[in-house]
Amino acid sequence: MILILQPDVRTEDARYVRLIEHLDSLAGITYRIHREPGAQQVLTEIYLIGETAGLSETDMAALPGVARVVRVSQPYRVLGRHRDEQRASAFDYNGIHFSQDNLNVFAGLCAVDTPEHVELTLKALAAAGQQCTRMGAYKPRTNPYSFQGHGKACLPWVFELAGKYGIKVIAMEVTREVHVEEIREALEATGQPTGVMLQIGTRNTQNFELLKAVGRAHEFPVLIKRGFGITLDESLNAAEYLASEGNARVVFCLRGVKTNMGDPHRNLVDFTHIPAVKRLTRMPVCIDPSHSVGSRQKSPDGIMDALHATAQGVVSGANMVLVDFHPVPSKALVDGAQALRLEELPYFLEDVAIAREAYERRRELAARTELA
Ligand code: PEP
Ligand code: MN
Repeated sequence: MILILQPDVRTEDARYVRLIEHLDSLAGITYRIHREPGAQQVLTEIYLIGETAGLSETDMAALPGVARVVRVSQPYRVLGRHRDEQRASAFDYNGIHFSQDNLNVFAGLCAVDTPEHVELTLKALAAAGQQCTRMGAYKPRTNPYSFQGHGKACLPWVFELAGKYGIKVIAMEVTREVHVEEIREALEATGQPTGVMLQIGTRNTQNFELLKAVGRAHEFPVLIKRGFGITLDESLNAAEYLASEGNARVVFCLRGVKTNMGDPHRNLVDFTHIPAVKRLTRMPVCIDPSHSVGSRQKSPDGIMDALHATAQGVVSGANMVLVDFHPVPSKALVDGAQALRLEELPYFLEDVAIAREAYERRRELAARTELA
């Protein structure tokens, strides 16, 4: 059960003190307090855990300071959609809006390599009107002898260059708790020229200690990849770990699942799950066509499979696209074979815009059709 407090209730208010006293007196019930900072006010939610079946919704709604009561009907307590749900599915970070209704493109380098390549990429993004990117500094690799990423050494100059080109958010994977601290320190040392969305990679989707640590890093939003060998429910529970530690600014990323049934693609593309994730949770949904498809192969229609996959996701309402680009893919230290070239960025963005328009028209059609 979730108690949503009136927006003006402060911890020092008599109403709040009486409410907490009452909750403390309930046998078999513990609670966790979440504060979601919004544009105008802080929203306080109290999650009741334990024997809540015996509690009356009417009684709980009458407690001091309580605005509404939501009975949790399924497992993702914070991020899930529940019966009589009216909670928002949106957040803002560093001037960028994330929701289940809009679309942001995060095109960029799979892995940071040279300052020249980073600058060329950022320049192309700025020229195309983009404010978000992806830049991997910590790379989890299959082969221990492969390039592992520049790590914290590259952060200051990557952040400074991002600021120079007006980039507001960089999606950046972290694989250990210390990486969050390194990112925080580098942002501070460079004067916060940009923002970072912490990325949990598919290999770490069920690294619960990492999830808890990133969930405690409340100042950063998080992009969590679906685990490549686990069920959707298991991956959504992984996202809930972040929220259970107080970080509900989470975007969920579909990136394909591992099976030979996906051949000739790198993974079996799972973008048909976009509407399912939106129905089950309040998270904006991202797609990663690069790591799903894994190549630049084209069909006879002249369109790359990765662009077909992107369009399929966007036409189904994807809210974010994470996609690999590189100025010279043959020189990329990671995943060059799937990188799009910077000259292809305007074409890619136009193709995405066509698919987005189709999605918006489909929504309008559904809204005015009784059969929908
Ligand atoms: C990535 O986005 O750089 C990446 C490693 O992706 P995934 O975790 O989906 O393999
Ligand atoms: Mn990659």
